[in-house]
Amino acid sequence: MPVLKRFLKILGYVIIATLLTAMGIALLNQPKSLINTSKSLTPDAAYRESIANTALEHLAEATTYRIVGYDDANNDSINHNSILAFHAWLKRTYPLLAARANWEVINQHSLLITLKGSSKEAAAMFIGHMDVVPAPDSAQWKHGPYSGRIVKDTLWGRGALDDKNVVIGLMEAAERTLALGLPIKRTLLFGFGHDEETGGSHGASAIAQHLIKHRIPVAFISDEGFGVMKGIVPGLKNDCAIIGLSEKGFVSVKLKVKQLGGHSAWPNPENATAILSKGLSKLEHHQFASNLEQPVRGLFTEAAPYMNFGYRLLFSNLWLTAPLVKMVLQGGEKTAATIRTTHVTTIMRAGNKENVVPPTAEAIVNLRLFPGHSIAAAMDEIKDVLNDPRIEISTYADGREATPVSAANGDGYDQIKAAIQANFTETVVVPGLVITGTDCKNYTAVTNRMYRFVPFEFSASNLSSIHGINEHITRKQFGKGVEFYMDLFQRL
Ligand SMILES: [Zn+2]
Repeated sequence: MPVLKRFLKILGYVIIATLLTAMGIALLNQPKSLINTSKSLTPDAAYRESIANTALEHLAEATTYRIVGYDDANNDSINHNSILAFHAWLKRTYPLLAARANWEVINQHSLLITLKGSSKEAAAMFIGHMDVVPAPDSAQWKHGPYSGRIVKDTLWGRGALDDKNVVIGLMEAAERTLALGLPIKRTLLFGFGHDEETGGSHGASAIAQHLIKHRIPVAFISDEGFGVMKGIVPGLKNDCAIIGLSEKGFVSVKLKVKQLGGHSAWPNPENATAILSKGLSKLEHHQFASNLEQPVRGLFTEAAPYMNFGYRLLFSNLWLTAPLVKMVLQGGEKTAATIRTTHVTTIMRAGNKENVVPPTAEAIVNLRLFPGHSIAAAMDEIKDVLNDPRIEISTYADGREATPVSAANGDGYDQIKAAIQANFTETVVVPGLVITGTDCKNYTAVTNRMYRFVPFEFSASNLSSIHGINEHITRKQFGKGVEFYMDLFQRL
C-alpha cells in the first residue's frame, strides 16, 4: 500500500521536525534577565543584626495583642480594646512615623497611615492585616500563641507569619528609613485592616472606600501572598519567589430538592435525598475545564529557562505540551486548584426524624473560581451537569468574582521583582495565582495593579504552621524581610 507508506513516512518526518523544534526552543530558552541585582542599600553586618534583633522583639510584642477574627464577630464586638491598644502601641514603638505620617482610624478599627513623599506621583500602597485566626488548640503549642516568646532565634506566636510580620515589617522599615534620613520620593500608604480573616468587609473595604471618596491616587498595591519558596516548582533548583497577580473568586451554590415526604415504611424511590444524591454524584464526577492562561502561564514560562532540561523542554513548549502539563498538574489537589475552578460539597441537610422521608434536601457546594471564569458561567455549567429541573440552584450567600489579573510588568511589579533579586540571591521571580483570599479583593476599584508577595523565605514547617499550631518565624527570616522593604522603598 504505497499511499499508506507515504503517509506514515510524512507523519514520521512531521514528528521528528516537531520534536527537533521543541528541543531547539528549549535549548534557546536561556535566562533573559539577571537573576541577581545590586541592593539599593548596603547595611553593614552590625546594622543588619540590630535590624533583626529589634524587629523581632517588636514583632513578639505585637503578637501579644489578641485581635482574633471569629466568623460571627461584627464590627462592634471584635476585640475593640485590643485593637485600640495595638494602635497606641504602634505609635509608641514607631515615634518618627507617629510624628511625620498622618494616621487615620478608618471605621473604628482599621488604620490608614500616609507618609508623604517628595514626588507628585500616585502613591505606592502597602497593605496588611492586624487580625489573626483563632488558636483554639493553644495547649498543643510549644509556647502560648499570644505569649510573644522568643526562644533562641525563633518567635512563636499567632500572627508571626500571618500577618503581623507584614504589618511590623513595614513599620520597622519605614521607621528605619526615617531614622537614616533616606529619601522618600513616592508617597507611601500603609493600610492595615482589622478583619481580613473574616472577609475584610469592615476594614479593607472601608479603607478602599475612603481612598475613592477622597480621590487619593494609588499606583499599585502590595499585599500578603506567596513568599520566597523552596522546592515547590518541580525541576527548579533555585528558590522561587512568586508574585500573585490575581486571587480566585469564591461562591457557594445551594442545591435544593422539594418532594413529597411521607412515611418511611412505603418510600418513593424518587424522594428528595435520592434526587439530590444523584445530582451531587454527577457533580463530583465533573471537573471544570483546566487552563494554563495567565497568571499560571507566566509561572511556567518565566521559570522554564532556569529549570533542568526535561522540565525546560516541557514548559518552553506549552504550544505542544499543554495537555501533558495539565494532566500532571491535575494529579495533585493543590496544583489542580491553580489551573481550574474547583468545587466541593461542604454542607448537606435533610431530615430530622428517622421514620419520616424528608420533604426537602439541600446541599451547599463551594466553588473557587479561576480568573475569568464568572459566577454566572459556573452556575450555568452546574445546571447543565445536573440536568434535572427538580434540583433548584441558587447562590447561597454573596459570592465574589476572581480579581482581575494584574500585569506582570511595569509599576509595582518591576520594583518588587528588582528588590527580590537584590535581597534573595539566586531566586527566580515568577508571577502566580493566589488560591486563597487576601484583602486585595476589596481594593479592585482602587487600582488594577495588585501584587501579593511577602519578603520571607518559607520552609515546609513554616507553611504548615500558618493558620495551624506553632506558627513561628526566625530572627534571620524576619530581619531579611525588613531589609527587603527598606530596599524596596528606595526603588519607588
Ligand atoms: Zn493573612
